[in-house]
Amino acid sequence: MFVTKVSENDMNPGKVYLVGAGPGDPKLITLRGIECLQIANVVIYDSLVNQILLDFYAPTAEKIYGGKMKGEQERRQAEINRQMVDYTRAGKTVVRLKGGDPFVFGRGGDEALVLAEAGIDFEIVPGVTSATAVPAYAGIPVTMRDYASSFAVVTGHSAALDSTSPIGWEKIATGIDTIVILMGVGHLDEITRRLIENGRSPQTPTVLVQYGTTPEQKTIEGTLADITQKAEEANFQSPAVIVVGEVNRLRKHLKWFEQKPLFGRKILVTRARAQSANFVSKLVSQGAMVLSSPMIEIVPIDQNLALDQSIDGLSDYDWVVFTSTNSVNIFHRRLCERGKDSRSFGPVKICAVGDKTTQALQQIGILPDFVPSESLGSVIAEEMKDVAHQRILIPRSRIGRPELSDSLRERQAIVDDMPIYDTVKVQGEEQNEMLEKLKNGDIDMVTFTSSSTAENFLNMLDEPQSLMKNVRIAVIGQSTARTVMMHGLKYDIIADQPLIENLVDNIVEFYRVNN
Ligand code: SAH
Repeated sequence: MFVTKVSENDMNPGKVYLVGAGPGDPKLITLRGIECLQIANVVIYDSLVNQILLDFYAPTAEKIYGGKMKGEQERRQAEINRQMVDYTRAGKTVVRLKGGDPFVFGRGGDEALVLAEAGIDFEIVPGVTSATAVPAYAGIPVTMRDYASSFAVVTGHSAALDSTSPIGWEKIATGIDTIVILMGVGHLDEITRRLIENGRSPQTPTVLVQYGTTPEQKTIEGTLADITQKAEEANFQSPAVIVVGEVNRLRKHLKWFEQKPLFGRKILVTRARAQSANFVSKLVSQGAMVLSSPMIEIVPIDQNLALDQSIDGLSDYDWVVFTSTNSVNIFHRRLCERGKDSRSFGPVKICAVGDKTTQALQQIGILPDFVPSESLGSVIAEEMKDVAHQRILIPRSRIGRPELSDSLRERQAIVDDMPIYDTVKVQGEEQNEMLEKLKNGDIDMVTFTSSSTAENFLNMLDEPQSLMKNVRIAVIGQSTARTVMMHGLKYDIIADQPLIENLVDNIVEFYRVNN
């Protein structure tokens, strides 16, 4: 792709990038925006910015929250201005990350002016503004033949409504087809009244969209005349966009985002962080609201003398059996750390259990000699055929089950069963937050992609039966299912193949049937 990690040499210290982060969906940032985050030493970000962008693209940068509380806006703005100037003068690359587009409200222009006046180098990276993207995710095109050939983006902030405001409400009311109002939910009553008083029909379709482009997107539909009451009844809050105009009639045909199969479902992923990205992204792309609370972390065993010895004497083995991607990656990393590479396997035959393990091996340039048809220890041993007196290395998790080595030993193989990593239980703030949500009924489904995550998660609950009563459970395979049942619970979904892709498909199917 075009996104390149900019090298040290390209870094331009002492510069500020005013970057638009997009409206909420983290994928709506621009390529240039990502590049800037990747080179940033300091990121000053606003409250509407999706945190995922910071974690993902600027993991090591210093992060400063630039959001403003009511009543302290001016003081905080002055502070942000000063921080941008100070950090750049100290030679840092600063990204000022703003929601939507930096030059559509939100004081991007003011901040650029401060930099210009201070003689500081800056670049503006436009973003996808909520003014058009939020309506788009609600199925509302801001212009459309026969419906609207103009649109305006207007602030609904209190200053827009007082007598000194330069906004020509009387002109906007009838002179513009689609009116998109930002920052206006708190003054909905007054805004709608102004538009009606100035000649817009009270029957004009009006839509409010909160948290647009995110899985939390909420929408209220009405008319200029009744939307205020509807919003009050629903206790509708900002941040939201107000869309006034005939184009809102198209929403019933075009609301694509909310139709995603998992839209609005709150699904908890308990998988270890390093491996959850793919699962999370698949669920999110189906519209789910994913909470991720890893219960285990994969940690290579430190000072593993046995592993080092087996790496140094790798050619003494006849076979190495890899049973997981973790074992491939951790073994390979250690191999490299000892100054070797994949060639060290030489004539040693390699067995890979499962598609993912095979792919992980391919990533390091190895095609396995043998891939068994199943992951059951006895089946693997049988399919490996003549293993008598063969020396077999199995690098694996410390808590792995002994079935495979037992079955191989029964066939007179000489097995080196070698723990190379631990699955470590985590319980911190994130886990506590998740527990709180579970208690409040804020989680629809919990997913378990291994027995150990299920075990750790369920052990953490004081009363699993009552806490999980209204929560659906989805498991990846038989042994995880057994763990769930051993805790006195039933599962609702089991993947038809023990793969993430299948689990996601089965979850989608489940909700299609159990709507
Ligand atoms: N520069 C931003 C706008 C900043 S003003 C942009 O281009 O999008 C902040 C206002 O934007 C909020 O009060 C709200 O009206 C709107 N807004 C921003 N993100 C939004 C979202 N995801 N959903 C609904 N409204 C949003």
